[in-house]
Amino acid sequence: MNKRAYNFNAGPAALPLKVLERAQAEFVDFRGTGMSIMEMSHRGAVYESVHNEAQERLLRLLGNPKGYKVLFLQGGASTQFAMIPMNFLKQGTVGSYVMTGSWADKALKEAKLFGETSIAASSKEDQYMRIPDLDHLELPDRTAYLHITSNETIEGVQFQKYPETGQVPLIADMSSDIFCRVTDVNKFGMIYAGAQKNLGPSGVTVVIAKEDKLAEQVENIPTMFRYSTFLKNNSLYNTPPSFSVYMVNEVLRWIEEEGGLTAMEQMNREKAALLYDGIDQSGGFYRGCAEPRDRSLMNITFRLASEELEKLFVKESEKEGFIGLKGHRSVGGLRASTYNAVPYESCKALADFMDVFQKQHG
Ligand code: PMP
Repeated sequence: MNKRAYNFNAGPAALPLKVLERAQAEFVDFRGTGMSIMEMSHRGAVYESVHNEAQERLLRLLGNPKGYKVLFLQGGASTQFAMIPMNFLKQGTVGSYVMTGSWADKALKEAKLFGETSIAASSKEDQYMRIPDLDHLELPDRTAYLHITSNETIEGVQFQKYPETGQVPLIADMSSDIFCRVTDVNKFGMIYAGAQKNLGPSGVTVVIAKEDKLAEQVENIPTMFRYSTFLKNNSLYNTPPSFSVYMVNEVLRWIEEEGGLTAMEQMNREKAALLYDGIDQSGGFYRGCAEPRDRSLMNITFRLASEELEKLFVKESEKEGFIGLKGHRSVGGLRASTYNAVPYESCKALADFMDVFQKQHG
């Protein structure tokens, strides 16, 4: 096999090699059926067992929280930005948002199309380089839900603790940090994530939520936009993205084999420390973007003294086999996405490359 790239893509992103190899081994003939999983009916027992297994694994990794259900949806996390207010933002209520970066911005924008919104806290005045104070949230009495973005993929900031919301359901976009650390899902009414960072390939969006929230009846929205449709039909109302669901199940199997979320968190902390320490000990050659307290374990954002030097860094890094280190086009700079499947060795190689680059250009 050819050498695997040092893949720091932001998403779609690196997948565990073991998962890719397992998928390859059963690609043409899925477990003796004489066909690929992509070729079989989603109504058959074989696909359904994979579908159910993936749901069971998602809940098991979270400690089997009581009263929670898993849905598999399409349209990416971006569709959830709209589905949440469509389903939960009833007339006379307010959708409240914590503004932490580009993705929170997008989520709020969609909610505004459907009803009244409010901003519970914001770090916009600091260019979203920190998580705002969560101890003094402004929540109107009529708040239907509080929405947070647990990890801002573009800015590289991550919630270190979650806000206390009392009776108000907390909803989190965990697209870029789901399962990167031990998480108490009981704090949340709902969490959701596009799969293409920590869970698998693109094409499926995972929703984990309290069953009573998902069961809420909303009459005036299309069938495919109601959570209750997917709940009632075990996410098989229409054709699901079957290959993506299968891959998610395999990634979850890998997480379990590796030791679950505790092991993921430990490895992610070691990986991130390697890179942040390198940045902090570079004497200002590399400058971390996010406030150290709120730095993301998943998206390490940093800058160099000039855009020219940053361009050179990307160019030189590509020559050495590093992929995806250019920052998001909206903010510039550099970004290393170190999702669960990015091996420690890739991060070590990057830390070493950064050292060499500094010696050459510092
Ligand atoms: N939320 C966050 C935090 C993200 O990082 C992304 C994608 N990068 C999205 C939402 C949008 O996801 P999708 O492309 O699946 O719609």
